[in-house]
Formats: sequence, C-alpha cells, structure tokens
Amino acid sequence: MKKIDLHTHSNCSDGSMSPAELVDLAAASDLAAIALTDHDSISGLDEAINRGKKIGIEVINGAEFSLFNDDTAIHLLAYCFDPAHPAIKNLIKKAQKIRDDRNKGIFAKFSDLGIEIDHDKLLLSAKGQLGRPHFAAYLVNHGMARNNQDAFNRYLKRGGPAYVARERLKTTEAMTEISRAGGISVLAHPMAVNHSRKTMTGIIRSLKDHGLGGVEVLYPAHDNSTIKYLTALARELDLAITGGSDFHGAGKPDIRLGGPGLMPPVPLTLLENLKKRLPTP
Ligand code: AMP
Ligand code: ZN
Ligand code: FE
Ligand code: FE
Repeated sequence: MKKIDLHTHSNCSDGSMSPAELVDLAAASDLAAIALTDHDSISGLDEAINRGKKIGIEVINGAEFSLFNDDTAIHLLAYCFDPAHPAIKNLIKKAQKIRDDRNKGIFAKFSDLGIEIDHDKLLLSAKGQLGRPHFAAYLVNHGMARNNQDAFNRYLKRGGPAYVARERLKTTEAMTEISRAGGISVLAHPMAVNHSRKTMTGIIRSLKDHGLGGVEVLYPAHDNSTIKYLTALARELDLAITGGSDFHGAGKPDIRLGGPGLMPPVPLTLLENLKKRLPTP
C-alpha cells in the first residue's frame, strides 16, 4: 500500500524543517505524497513542489487556517487550490494581517512584563508566519524559559500573561474562497476541538451545508473509537476522509512524518478520492 501524509508544517509557519527538507524526509519515510499545510501561509509551496518533482514525491498544495465557526475555534485544511488565484491570496492576506496584529499585542504584553523581545531577531527566526512557538523559542534561547512547554506555561498559554486572543475569520467565508480558488476544505483534527461527539456532529453537519468537502479522520490524537465515529459520519454526509500527522519537526518531537504509534498509515487512495471531489472549474 502506498502511504501519504496530508498534514505537515515547515519553517514557513511553525515547523522546524524547510519545505525541501520535509519532502526529502517524506522520501526517506517511504511516502508517495505529502501535502504542505502551513498555518496561514502558502509561501513554502513552490520550494516543496520543485523538490518533489526532482525526487519523485507528489506534493499537494495546502494550508491550515484558524477560524471561527460561530463561537467555536476550528482549524480548516485547504487542499489542491490554485495558489495564484486571487481568492486564496486574499484569504492568506487577511489571515496574515490578523496574525500580525496579534503578534504586536504579544510584543506589547512582554514589554509590559519587562521582557524586551528583539523584533528583528524574532522575525528572522520565522520564514513565513510568526506564531507563539517562535516567541517560546526566543524565550528559551535567551534563558528566559527552560523549554518550550515552560515558555507556554509561564507566558503564552491561553490566559497566560503574554497571551493575546486573536480575531478569526469565519469558516463559511474561508470555505467559499477556497472553493473559488479550485480547492477543497477539510475539517482538521475534529476531536482536538474538545467538544462532545454530539456537538461535533452538529458542527460537521452544518459545515457540510456550507461547502465542507472532507474530514481529517486519521490523526495521531484520534483513537480507534474516534476513527470509527468520524468514518461513519463522513460516509453518512458524503464527505471525503483524509489523514495526516500534523508533523512540525523538532517542535513536536513525538510526531513522526507519516504518523506515529497508534495512528494507522494514510493510504494514497484517500488522496485520489479527495481529488475526485474538487470543484469543477
Ligand atoms: P499560534 O498559532 O501562534 O496560536 O500557535 C499555536 C501553536 O502553539 C500550536 O500549534 C502549538 O504548537 C503551540 N501551543 C499552543 N498552546 C500550547 C500549550 N499550552 N503548550 C505548548 N504548546 C502550545
Ligand atoms: Zn503548528
Ligand atoms: Fe491544527
Ligand atoms: Fe497543523
């Protein structure tokens, strides 16, 4: 069986590897295809695709957006869009503006705490999107936190002294734009959203009515019972089933590309089925 991974992060968001390194690792991990799904960024896609062409790994255009569905914060994966399409460019631009505003707020909170963070150094550490993990790494590198988790626990976690809630785009708006750009929307790690199955079922049903194309069923944090539940729901609602490891490299050392431990391997057939559902131009 050919295996794939449809959820990965490079150093164009908060992963530790460059897009090309990620594709090399995919080859070394015996994967046939990966999707690069950086947070709010498509800046790594060219590099990943070129590397993939060279070494015979299929690279799928992707991105992961942090959104609001009513009051629920969700992550939405976008696949197979045309990265040059104005709809996707515009969506990325909006998401990046929200991040920039939030990062300014985080700088200000650290400043209030008497911790001056060098903007330039921090920006240099992020090729694409700057997020809380970059602030955490900065604190560790400058002796202000013992490790990443310590930095989150003391400063950056939700409710922490340097935490800034962010504005979020609406899921319905994002799904419309993704579809206009020729792509398909997939709900990321549904059970990480921390809702009961009943609530999650309602959310997925309503998303389907607004253009959702699939659900990420295979995910490291999903146990067998969750996989069964999500598979049944996806079949009932005629949604594609996808899977990915959410690989971040050194930042999340427990997660291997292609899926660790309990996560079943993601078969290439899931990607083939996903492609059949792409909007017709
Ligand atoms: P951001 O997109 O800037 O809000 O950063 C989100 C990332 O921060 C997540 O992907 C995690 O890697 C990390 N993160 C969020 N909350 C925590 C936490 N409580 N402890 C450790 N890492 C966290
Ligand atoms: Zn991340
Ligand atoms: Fe996510
Ligand atoms: Fe992710």
